[in-house]
Amino acid sequence: MIVTKIKTLDTIKLSKMTSKEFYSILCSFKKSDLAVLLSWEEKFDVTVDFNWKNVLEFKLKTLKNNKVKQCNFKTIHRILPYRYNLCKWKVVSEGMCIFCLKTESFVYVLIECPTVSLFWKRIIKYVQTYFNKKLLLNEKLLIMGTEFNYPNAANINTVLIYAQYAIYKTYMLNYFQGKTYSSYAIWNTFKNEILLDNISDISNTLKTFIP
Ligand SMILES: [Zn+2]
Repeated sequence: MIVTKIKTLDTIKLSKMTSKEFYSILCSFKKSDLAVLLSWEEKFDVTVDFNWKNVLEFKLKTLKNNKVKQCNFKTIHRILPYRYNLCKWKVVSEGMCIFCLKTESFVYVLIECPTVSLFWKRIIKYVQTYFNKKLLLNEKLLIMGTEFNYPNAANINTVLIYAQYAIYKTYMLNYFQGKTYSSYAIWNTFKNEILLDNISDISNTLKTFIP
């Protein structure tokens, strides 16, 4: 099973994964991971015929940055090495957030922890300012993104994806290198990654946005 394979790969190796290896993961996804998608459908109470094609293509194919795509894949599978997972995999003994000491979970680490919550306030303000949409932040938005027929959907979904990647990257930089984990640090990671990947509409507006 692909999940087992992913779980055993460490972060360093994943960051060096070739596009060929990544492609094989994509192919495996189609075959073996319907259960994951079904579990989200059930959780979000969407119709069973929800069309995942747009979502998956956007998250795992369209974007150019492989690390971001891997982060998307692992987010959908809830297998990013956050502490709640490290605890589940018996790598660490405590599954609590070390920044606020509350019990960590998928939704806690990505949305509810006060540090990320402040970061998301900036993201929401940014999206409202430049893409004219008031986001309702919840798990469904993280996984499924905003409706694809909305005028600025591609930009908004890119922002949502890079925001989740920035949380992950900043968290790992803290875990492995002891770097600061704050809403400001996450925002900086977010901005740097967008600028590095030169995502035009977003890069241009981020340069002038004052959070
Ligand atoms: Zn916390």
